[in-house]
Amino acid sequence: MALKTPEQFEESLKQFKPVVFMNGKRVEDVLSNPNTRTVVEANKASYQWALDPRYSQTMTCFSPLIQGTVNRYTHISGSNEDLLSKAKAGTFTAEMLGTCIYRCVGYDAFHALAATTWEMDKTIGTEYYPRFVNYLKMVQENDLSAAGALTEPRGSRKKRTLDWPDPFLSLKVVEKNSDGIVVRGAKVNISGAFASHELVVLPQSSHGEGEEDYAVAFAVPVDTKGITYICQYSPYSAERDQAEDIYELGNPVFGQRETSMVVFDNVFVPWERVFHCGEVKYSGKLVARFARTHRMTCGGTCKVGFMNQIIGACKLIQEYKGLDNISHINDQITEMVVLRETGRACGMAAAQLGSEDPPGSGVFLPDEVMGNVAKLNICNAFWRTMALAGDIGGGLIVTMPSLKELKNPETKAYVEEFFSFGSDEPTENILKVHKLLQHWTAGQHGVGTWHGAGPVMAQKIMLQRIVKFDHEKELVKKTLNLKEK
Ligand SMILES: Cc1cc2nc3c(=O)[nH]c(=O)nc-3n(C[C@H](O)[C@H](O)[C@H](O)COP(=O)(O)OP(=O)(O)OC[C@H]3O[C@@H](n4cnc5c(N)ncnc54)[C@H](O)[C@@H]3O)c2cc1C
Repeated sequence: MALKTPEQFEESLKQFKPVVFMNGKRVEDVLSNPNTRTVVEANKASYQWALDPRYSQTMTCFSPLIQGTVNRYTHISGSNEDLLSKAKAGTFTAEMLGTCIYRCVGYDAFHALAATTWEMDKTIGTEYYPRFVNYLKMVQENDLSAAGALTEPRGSRKKRTLDWPDPFLSLKVVEKNSDGIVVRGAKVNISGAFASHELVVLPQSSHGEGEEDYAVAFAVPVDTKGITYICQYSPYSAERDQAEDIYELGNPVFGQRETSMVVFDNVFVPWERVFHCGEVKYSGKLVARFARTHRMTCGGTCKVGFMNQIIGACKLIQEYKGLDNISHINDQITEMVVLRETGRACGMAAAQLGSEDPPGSGVFLPDEVMGNVAKLNICNAFWRTMALAGDIGGGLIVTMPSLKELKNPETKAYVEEFFSFGSDEPTENILKVHKLLQHWTAGQHGVGTWHGAGPVMAQKIMLQRIVKFDHEKELVKKTLNLKEK
C-alpha cells in the first residue's frame, strides 16, 4: 500500500476501539475528545507532510525492506545520512507542531529491536530477527503509526525487581503457550499511544538471572483486549475541555503533550509479535540501544524545534514592546540562539558520528557519547531558554486575562487599550503570543524535557560508563615524558 493520506489515517483510527479514561471518565472517541484530538492532529500532520512536496524529502525515504517509499518514522536508519535526515525531521516536526511527534519513541524502539534481535539470532540462535522484519514490513506497507513503551511504575529503587511486594510493578510474562505469551503490568508516561495504530513495548531496564519473565519485548495493536489507557489530566487539559474556541489556547491545534499510563491486564501477544522473551542478557542491550537513538532525538532535534517557537514568540514580543534596540534583550535572544545551536550541533554530531551497531546488522545508531551529551545539555538549556523567555515576556505571560475578554462587550475596550503596548498590533495577536509563551514557560514542557529520554543522572551514568580516559592520560604522560612504572 502507498503512503496513507491524512484522511485515510483518520479513517483508519476509527477502526480501533482503545479503552481510554481521562479525568475520571471514559473517552468514547479519541477523535472527538478535545485533548486526545490533539494527538490525532499531531500524528495526522506527519501523514500530511509525507505527501506534501515541500516536506516529503524530510518525512519520507526509500525502504529496502519493502522496496518503496515509507514515512521516515517507520524506517530503520542504514547510514549516517539516514540518521542526519532523521535529526532534521525531528527538528522539523517539533517546530511545526510545537509539541511531540508521537511516532518518535516507536521509531527509536524499532532501531533497538532491529539491532538486538539480529544480535540475539547470531549469538544465541533465536529466530527473532526475521519475525521482527516481517512485523516492520507490515508496519511500512500499511503506513502505521507506532508509539513506544518502556517506562514502568517500579517499586522501591533500593530493591531488585524480584524483591518488590507487587511482582507486576514491572511488566511480567504470566503465561507462555504454543500460541504466544500473556503479560501483566503497566507502562507509565507513554506518549500519544491511544491515537496510534501500534504499541511497541520494550523492557525498561536490564535484567539478571531469575528475572526472565520481565525480559520481554513485543508489539500489539493499541486496542488489544486487556489494554487500558489512563490519561494524564492537568489544568491545561481542563482549559482545553472548556475552550469554546481552540484559538484561545497556547498551542491551539496540537496542545501540550499527551501521555497515559498503559495497563496490561493479562494481554495475549501471539508469538509472531514477540521479539524478546526471557533472554535476560539482552534486555539491557535493548534499553541501551533505545536510549542511544532516543537521546539524540530528544536532546539534539526536537527541543531545537521547540526553541524556534519560543525564540519566535520572544522576537515578536520584543517588537510589540518597542524593545528592538535594547541590548540586554538582544543579548538574551542571542543566548537562546547559542543554546539552540549547541543542541542542534550535538544532535547532528550524534548522527554524523553514528555507527552500525552491531557491526553487520545494517542498523545505524547515533554516537552514544554525543547523544547523551545532546540530552544532558538540552535539559539545562531548555530551562534556561524558558527563564529567558519569561524575562522577555514579562508578567503578562502568567497574568494575562482570557482571550474571551476580547468578545466581552464590558471589558473588550479596556483589554484592547491597555494590552496593546500602544502599538498598532491587534491586541488579540499580542495576547495570543503571550499565551503561547505561557504554554511553554508555565506549562509541562520543562519537566517533560528533563525526564523524557531519562533524567540527567541517567545520561551522566551512561557517560561515566562509556567514556574511557586512557587517551587523555596517555597525552599527559607523553607531554611530561612520565616514567613507566
Ligand atoms: C512528557 C513525557 C513523555 C514521556 N514519554 C514516554 C514514552 O513515550 N515512552 C516511555 O517509555 N517513556 C516515556 N516517558 C518516561 C520517561 O522516559 C521517564 O519519565 C524518565 O525515564 C524518568 O523516569 P521517571 O519519570 O519514573 O522518574 P524517576 O526514575 O522516578 O526519577 C526521579 C528522580 O529519581 C532519580 N532516580 C530514580 N531511580 C534512581 C536510582 N535507581 N538511583 C538513583 N537515582 C534514581 C532520578 O535520577 C531522578 O532524579 C515520558 C516522560 C515524560 C515526562
